[in-house]
Amino acid sequence: MLSISHAATGAFLAAKLQNPVLYIPAILASHYLEDWILHWDVGTGLSNGTRKRSHAFVLELIDLVLAIGVVFLMFRDSAVGVQPQIYFGAFLGLLPDFLEAPRNFFNWNPKFLKPLNSFHHSLHHSTPNVLRGLIPQVILLALLWAMK
Ligand SMILES: [Zn+2]
Repeated sequence: MLSISHAATGAFLAAKLQNPVLYIPAILASHYLEDWILHWDVGTGLSNGTRKRSHAFVLELIDLVLAIGVVFLMFRDSAVGVQPQIYFGAFLGLLPDFLEAPRNFFNWNPKFLKPLNSFHHSLHHSTPNVLRGLIPQVILLALLWAMK
């Protein structure tokens, strides 16, 4: 899914579960579960060559900036801004994609990351249909916003 979706989910779980023993595994599991749902993201088309790496990289940077903005808007507290734990949750929500980024963008897949990236890839279901691929993410963000 988009970084916006993974980051918002990670932030949400960190905020709700509070305890890292609970939220760290829950956030990592949420990433793979969300990628299993048919979706569109900025990497869609990289593996079959319909999207250029440079284009996906620029879109990914925009996606990350928007993800930080969404997390800020969802979880800002007037007294302290956004608590560090929330940003940590958002980072954990994105971690599997960060670990895959060297492979996706720089064609570099370190041996120690191969099993994890293969697992990630095996659960990933994407569609080139942008509308169909965004609908589950809009629903997800609306639910997270309603339950925050
Ligand atoms: Zn992913």
